[in-house]
Amino acid sequence: MSQLSIVAVDEAGFCFGVRRALQLANEATEKYSEVACLGPLIHNRQVVEELEERGMRVVEKIEEVPRNSAALVRAHGAGPTVYEAAREREIDLIDATCPFVRRVQQAAARFTEDDYQVLVLGEREHPEAQAIVAHAGGHAIIVEDAGALDRIAVTARVAVVCQTTQHLDTLQELVTALLPRIAELRVANTICDATSKRQKASVGVARQVDVMIVIGGYHSANTNRLAQICRATGTRTEHIETADELRGEWLEGVTTAGITAGASTPLEAVEAVRRRLVELAAEHA
Ligand code: SF4
Repeated sequence: MSQLSIVAVDEAGFCFGVRRALQLANEATEKYSEVACLGPLIHNRQVVEELEERGMRVVEKIEEVPRNSAALVRAHGAGPTVYEAAREREIDLIDATCPFVRRVQQAAARFTEDDYQVLVLGEREHPEAQAIVAHAGGHAIIVEDAGALDRIAVTARVAVVCQTTQHLDTLQELVTALLPRIAELRVANTICDATSKRQKASVGVARQVDVMIVIGGYHSANTNRLAQICRATGTRTEHIETADELRGEWLEGVTTAGITAGASTPLEAVEAVRRRLVELAAEHA
């Protein structure tokens, strides 16, 4: 392998919502000696560890947070019971819910009030999807794709909202499958722009290269989704969390490598991967 050319996706790195959440988290660690975070702030182990060093403690439930202390709601958001519990326990709640996620929650609540059966296109176990359901009074149903319609009973009036990381094709398939089954359909396309732009740019790069490197947490929904759609182009795709995981043999017979990263990946991590790729290419030259 001689010359390796590297193409990085411009949209890689922290999105607006994650940048905002991190800023709020950093301000909170300056203001309070201890701040509880309801679940990991973002799906990036390295960043979470850094915040822990500054006094942030990850907890599972608001009930674990001591009375009269401080807690942070992450960008994925939380259900209304969390806000109620915080008020009761006099916890200073710093709300880092991404405004785009808030928009999904509000749409789900509004459709529920208007008596629609709300379907949340999303991942069943994902905290963002679960919080959206909670904002719909717990009545909404999470569906992962159009195939799920064969397993649930839909009413005549259905409204669809999406977890922000969903793909437009999946939403279109769901809508197409729903139409013949029901009388009335409302759809809130709540897919986040940052996600779709990053996905489109990543597919564009994946199509041009021999190997695609996707950087981001293994538990990050949007990073896993990026890896999946890059792989679907037919280009070999490797999902890593940090530059140390890069392997020289991935570059065998490779002349072009692409780099993209999920919404919770700092630009420094992207730069570290680029540097390591250059080193590995030189070692294998
Ligand atoms: S990906 Fe979009 S919705 Fe999710 S945190 Fe970032 S800006 Fe907000």
